[in-house]
Amino acid sequence: MSIHSPLTETPPGENRILVIYTGGTIGMQQHAHGLAPSGDFATRMATAFNQLPLAQQQALPTYEVISYATLIDSSAATPLSWHQLALDIHDQLTAYTGFVIIHGTDTLSWTAASLAYQLQGLDRPVVLTGSMRPLEAAASDALENLYGALQFAAQPALQEVTIYFAGQLLRGARTIKQHSEAPDAFASPNYPLLGERVGDDFIYYPSLGLGLQQRGAPRFELPDYRLVNQGEVVRIALWPGISAWQLEAWLVDSRVKGALLQLWGAGNIPDDPGLLAVLAKASGEGKLLAAISQCPQGSVQLGAYAAGHGLSDAGILAGDGMTPEAAFTKLTHLLAQPISLEDQRRRFLTSLVGER
Ligand code: ASP
Repeated sequence: MSIHSPLTETPPGENRILVIYTGGTIGMQQHAHGLAPSGDFATRMATAFNQLPLAQQQALPTYEVISYATLIDSSAATPLSWHQLALDIHDQLTAYTGFVIIHGTDTLSWTAASLAYQLQGLDRPVVLTGSMRPLEAAASDALENLYGALQFAAQPALQEVTIYFAGQLLRGARTIKQHSEAPDAFASPNYPLLGERVGDDFIYYPSLGLGLQQRGAPRFELPDYRLVNQGEVVRIALWPGISAWQLEAWLVDSRVKGALLQLWGAGNIPDDPGLLAVLAKASGEGKLLAAISQCPQGSVQLGAYAAGHGLSDAGILAGDGMTPEAAFTKLTHLLAQPISLEDQRRRFLTSLVGER
C-alpha cells in the first residue's frame, strides 16, 4: 500500500480526505494485451489536477492517496473486497473528514450498496467514483469525476455512502449502472439526486440525505464476510418458459443460503404451482428469499397479480423498489451476521440506509 500526501500539515478544523484507489478504467493504461489497471495514481491524479483552472486548483481540499497493492478491474470484486474497503474506512475513520473511493464502474454500484450497509450511521462523506475513459485518454471524464468527488467529500453535512459521476451525486444504495458507454453512466431510478454540480458549485440537498435522520455515533456492522464469499447468495431473473426444475437446481443446493428473484413488472411470475412449491420449500428450509422487479423503475407489490399472489405465502420478501445491487448486497450483509432468520427477514423489510 503506498501513501501520497501532497499537503502534510492540515490545520485543525480543515478537511482532510483519504482517496482509496482500487483500480478500474480510470487508472488504466495501455499494456501489451490491452487496457489494464496501472499504478502511481497519486502522481497521475496530481498531474491531471494541474490542468484545472487556477481557481479550481485552489479550491481542492487537502487529500492523501492510498493505492491497493493489487489493482483490479471491478469485475474481480467480491463480497470480501467490499468488506476490505469497509474495514479500511473503519480503521482510518477518525483520521479523515471524508473518503473518496476510486473504483471500476462495472460493479461500482454493488460496492457502494454494500458499503452503505456495513457503514451504517456514517457521520461523514464516503464518495465513490470512477470514469468511463482512462485518466490520460482524450476527452476523459476522469478529471471532472475526481474533482467533483473530492468537492462532495469535503462537505461535512453529507453523511452517507454516495456515488459522484458526471455532475450528479447519487445515494450509493439507490444507484445502478445504466449505460455501458455514455459519461452519465449511473442513475438512481427510484430516488432523487442527493446533489449536483451547478457551474463551479457542488450543491448537496441535505433534506434528501441521511445526515439529518441520524443520531449518535456510527453503528458500523462489520461481520465476517468470509461466510458469504463462496456463492451463498444467488440472483435469478425470470424468463418466459422458466421451469420449476431450473429454479430448483439453483435453490436445492445446501450452499445457497439466500436468493434474489427478479420478477416481471409489479411482481408477476408464471402461474405454475411447481415454481411456488420450489420457493416455498427453499424458504421453509430457512433460506432468505426476496423479490424485486426486472423493471428499473417502480416497485413490486407481491399479490398484485393472481399469478404472483402465492409469493408472500411462499415466504418471499418484497424488495419494493430496491435496485438489484441494494437487494443482493443486503441479503449478503444479513446472511453474514449471527442473527436469527426472523431478524434477517425483519431487517430486510426495514429501510436500513435509505435503500427502500
Ligand atoms: N471494466 C472496468 C471496471 O469496472 C470498467 C470501468 O471502470 O469503467 O473495472
